[in-house]
Parts: sequence; structure tokens; C-alpha cells
Amino acid sequence: MTYKRNNKRFSVKGRGTYLTKADFIMTYYADLEACKCFFFDMKWPTGYYCEKCGCTHHYYMKGKGSYRCCECHHDERLLSNTCFQDCKLPLNKLLYGIFLIYADKRSISSLELTEELNVNYKTACLLQTKCRLLMRSSNTKQMLDSSFYESDVVYIGAKSEGKQGMGTDKQAFLVILSTHKEHEYPMYVKLIEIEKDSGANIEAQFSKNVKMSKDRILNTDGKTTFNILKSNLQVKNDKINYQENESKLYFLNKIASNFKSTIQGIYHGIGKRMIPLYFSEFEWRFNHRHTKDFMGKICKYIRNSTIMTRKDIVTARIYILSIEVWNFLRDVKWALTLNNKRL
Ligand SMILES: [Zn+2]
Repeated sequence: MTYKRNNKRFSVKGRGTYLTKADFIMTYYADLEACKCFFFDMKWPTGYYCEKCGCTHHYYMKGKGSYRCCECHHDERLLSNTCFQDCKLPLNKLLYGIFLIYADKRSISSLELTEELNVNYKTACLLQTKCRLLMRSSNTKQMLDSSFYESDVVYIGAKSEGKQGMGTDKQAFLVILSTHKEHEYPMYVKLIEIEKDSGANIEAQFSKNVKMSKDRILNTDGKTTFNILKSNLQVKNDKINYQENESKLYFLNKIASNFKSTIQGIYHGIGKRMIPLYFSEFEWRFNHRHTKDFMGKICKYIRNSTIMTRKDIVTARIYILSIEVWNFLRDVKWALTLNNKRL
């Protein structure tokens, strides 16, 4: 199929087969057995085996909702040792919630999730945070690998009084794109929170997230902080004329502004301490925009996850937000006194 715009003909690839919300409800939500089968295949892809004795025979304990080994009577639940171990929701509701979070083209807010699943607001938030942490761990495993990159440091947050440019106390984040050709629509994107716009920070994040060599090109917008990468990449660091229609970093700025409007439009503003998880979510959604097999992804992520309790999630937040705590300490000049004491 093709369509016309500005007298040019563009071809349209169909989205192909993918699971719609209605399909999901028909196959999984309305059928608890199918839901159980999904989680069973997730836990034991090669068929049941007992973790204690290796026996392959089991029977289902209806009252407990667990699978019991015929030999040693060891009980095993479908979600034990995964991040949803302590979840009290019925399996079909849980899977529906996860599906909504992953398969939504935009994003779903906790309030919408609360209404859709008919659960407590706190439960919806917890489910979302867990899914975002899974997205985050999937993101960190991927590195950008291309001949062309674009990068810039962007700020998000409300206007800070009297401070502008690099002195602002808004949250800074580094956007890196990889493209097939220069100034083309990006293949993959990375959004990384950084404590401030400095060369050392940028170099550390690039070495963690981007494959670098001398024959690869990086386009930036004239910031001198990117010059530190000149030993690893060809850095094109010219001033950009944003009046031009197809200027450099055109898509990068589009993506950054899309992210900001998602935060405002769907989540209606969020606390600064939760921002890193939203970066991960947006990045995951962009990089998986062509994904059709969401059930396969969900299966893989849950299988590879480890136990997360409410307490773990709070500490995970603290870990992610340690940067912010450091900023806070610096602001009240405690960091200095702490350093002196240690010396
Ligand atoms: Zn056994």
C-alpha cells in the first residue's frame, strides 16, 4: 500500500499480526487456564521439573495454587522467585496490567490503570514501577552500535528562578541517537540522567552505552563539553541554525520535546525523584516501537527477573536517586564538611 504527501509516494508497511487489547481479553483475560499456561511455560519452558529432586511428575494443588512434586512433595508457585512473587492479584488481572503497560503505544498512567484493572491506586503504582524497573534492566543490556550518532544534553523540569543554561537546577539528561545515515530518523535512542552537564559525565556515559571507534561520526550542537570524546569518535561540533527545515539534531529535539509532552500530557507532571524511571520507560518504548510480540517480551523479562519486594523498590529508588541526594548535600554544603571529616 502507498500514500501520497507533497506529490511524493511513500510506501506503508502494514503493522502485521500483533495482539490487540480485544485479542488479549479473549485469549488470556477471559480464560484463566490460558493465563496459567502462559505462566507455566514461562517458568518451565521445557516442561515441569522439581527444583529439589529433579522429578518431572507433579500435581496441581488447587487450594494453594501451587504445583507439588510427586516424589518429595515440594511446592512451587508459578511466580515464585520472580519480581511478582508477592503479588496478590489474580493471574489474569496481573497479566492484563503488565500487557497494558508494555503494549500501549503511548503510555498509561497509574490512574488509568487503576480504573482499567479496578485495583487500588497503590497497587497500580507498584505494578508500574516494577515494569519500569524491568524495562530499565533491559535497556542497560543494549549498547548503541552504528556509524552515525547524535547527542545533546537536555533539561527537564519547571523553570528555575534566576538560573539559566548550565547553572540551572533542572534535571539534566543526555540524549544519544544512532542513525543509518546522517540526519535520518533514528534507529535507537538512549536517555540517561546525568547529575550535570560536564565532560567527565558525558565521557563516562558514552563509554558505558555506545560502541566507539575513530571511523564513527558524532553530531552535536557546538557544546564544548563533547570535545572530550574527540579521541574516540569524529566529533562534528558546529553551531546549528535551527531556522533551517531539516537542520542537524532535528529528530533529537523532536524526541526530547515528545518526552517532555508525554510527562505533561499523560502523567501531568511527576516528582523529580521518579524521573529516571520515566527515562527508562520512554527509551524502552521508542526502541521497541516495531515490536509485535509483546507476550514474548513479557515472558522473557519476568523469567529473568529476581524478587522485588516493596522495600527493595524503595531502596532501588534511593539507589537511582543517589545523584539527587548528592546534589542536595552539595547545596547545603554538607558534602564539603563530610569530606573534611574523612580527610
Ligand atoms: Zn521433588
